[in-house]
Amino acid sequence: MKLNKILLIMSISTVLLQSQTYDIVIKNGRVMDPETGFDSVRNVGILGDRIVEISSKALSGAIVVNAKGLVVSPGFIDLHAHGQTNDAHKYQARDGVTTALEMEGGVAFYREWIESKKGNSIVNYGGTAPHGFLRATAMDSNLKIAKKMANKVKKDGYKEDGLLGKLFDESLASARYKLMSQKEIDRSHDMMDIYLNAGALGIGVPVGYYPGATAGEIFQVYEFAKSKDVPVYTHTRGFGLPGLQEAMADATTSGASVHLVHANSMSLGEIETTLSMVSSAQKLGLDITTEVYPYTAASTSIESTIFDEGWKEILNISYKDLQWEATGERLNSKTFYEYRKKGGIIIIHMMKPKWITQGVSHPVTIIASDGMPFAPGAHPRTAGTFSRILGKYVRKERAIDLMTALKKMTIMPAKRLEMTSPMMRNKGRLQVGA
Ligand SMILES: [Zn+2]
Repeated sequence: MKLNKILLIMSISTVLLQSQTYDIVIKNGRVMDPETGFDSVRNVGILGDRIVEISSKALSGAIVVNAKGLVVSPGFIDLHAHGQTNDAHKYQARDGVTTALEMEGGVAFYREWIESKKGNSIVNYGGTAPHGFLRATAMDSNLKIAKKMANKVKKDGYKEDGLLGKLFDESLASARYKLMSQKEIDRSHDMMDIYLNAGALGIGVPVGYYPGATAGEIFQVYEFAKSKDVPVYTHTRGFGLPGLQEAMADATTSGASVHLVHANSMSLGEIETTLSMVSSAQKLGLDITTEVYPYTAASTSIESTIFDEGWKEILNISYKDLQWEATGERLNSKTFYEYRKKGGIIIIHMMKPKWITQGVSHPVTIIASDGMPFAPGAHPRTAGTFSRILGKYVRKERAIDLMTALKKMTIMPAKRLEMTSPMMRNKGRLQVGA
């Protein structure tokens, strides 16, 4: 009798399940889940923003997408996207990205920025507390200008473009070379605390852009990060191993988590050593992760400290290896100084294809674009990082298989983010409940 009842309940629930109409059904696609390794043709039923059923049975939905012959993958999560306008997001979305985060540099005026994005952004967004910006504004000499900027943002709200612009460049640029007093360091920590309370996902420490920060100042940032249980995302000091080793030593000795951004452009020819170190650290149980982008060219501001005296020797390149983003022209010894005075974005041809293949194919690397803000002549990584991984490194060169590539673009960045973003426990996966 009891058994019959259970069977009856079961059959009713089966009927309910069968007659369920989903908001969206993706049918006949090759469903790939990078967390479990699941890889089979299935139908996916979605209600609201959740996957409710993955089945080989036919499912009915208000919208039915036929994915026959296509792969159904979780949306890609980009940890390193400087483009944060919807213009940039449109390109990112076409590259498969559904979450684009500014973790390297961080976001100035985080609370106001979040307010400005709410309900407006076509992809998921977020970022870190911007250590470089905050250390500059925490200096005694800059307190006045910092207050002026804060009042402006409070009054006018956050503007996507030109918020900091000249005001910041002219008044705060010299901070890059300045030492901080302990009082100023403590003040910068109080500021970071405000950002973390506003929801920042960690601390962005692009110390490579402010050589004035001492090793001691940076170590204190790691200690602070540990005390708040948030990770550091860092563009390390200089180029090559010493800067990367500084970050790994700071993380190890403070107990903080660290993510080393663009291991390819930081390590140059020493990428295998960097990745071996990260791999060994992970085996020791340390929370140290890293990322690469799949291009041999870098991109940054020509006025940055990277182009201080000595750059040609350090990078083993010359003027002709620099390309002006706005026109695509290659520079020479005259235009280099003209543009450096003016300021703007350049593309830097400085890496070897072999280093990139080594980076992409290594098991520890996450794929992240380091995409630049939207501009017609921007570095192609801004719009094509994830497609290039699939087209060049999976299909053409067979450097990695498809599931491995998807892992690097979905579940690995999701896990990196879980510490400060609990919703990431359901993202980067193609499973019921995701
Ligand atoms: Zn960087």
